[in-house]
Amino acid sequence: MIRPILIHPDPRLKKPADPVDTVDDDLRTLAADMLETMYDAPGIGLAAPQIGVMQRVLVMDCVKEEGAEPRPMVLINPEVTWASDEVSIYEEGCLSIPEQYADVERPAEVKVAWTDLDGAERSEHFTGLWATCVQHEIDHLDGKLFIDYLKPLKRQMITRKMQKLKRERARA
Ligand SMILES: [Zn+2]
Repeated sequence: MIRPILIHPDPRLKKPADPVDTVDDDLRTLAADMLETMYDAPGIGLAAPQIGVMQRVLVMDCVKEEGAEPRPMVLINPEVTWASDEVSIYEEGCLSIPEQYADVERPAEVKVAWTDLDGAERSEHFTGLWATCVQHEIDHLDGKLFIDYLKPLKRQMITRKMQKLKRERARA
């Protein structure tokens, strides 16, 4: 089921999410809904707070090549366990901040540990777009948005545009 995506500013996007303590069928349904919502948007990552669910769950698929097999990933209680000193800059966007993009600097590579949908502990070394995406999504679980890395003036400008967008959508 496709769920509505919250648009910034929204208090739920600024609040840390709670750890998941049981991987059950409700959680598997949530993960399936999140993947469907992400692919439909379309986007490469989505965190549970973006659909108003305050749990530490994120989904992502950064496969972009035409015709390549998709790689849907579900990360429960993800944690960065190592980050490279080397940084990289990507022009980031966010499904909760539509059509706004800005350069953000982050560690170029990270190791992340998480629980999967079978309740098993997993970890992976992410590079490139995957590394940026997983850090962006983990930030969502901590109530942090990519615009929080920007200078205040630029952040306020984007926030005002989003307030206007929300007013227009409410009227429509
Ligand atoms: Zn985002």
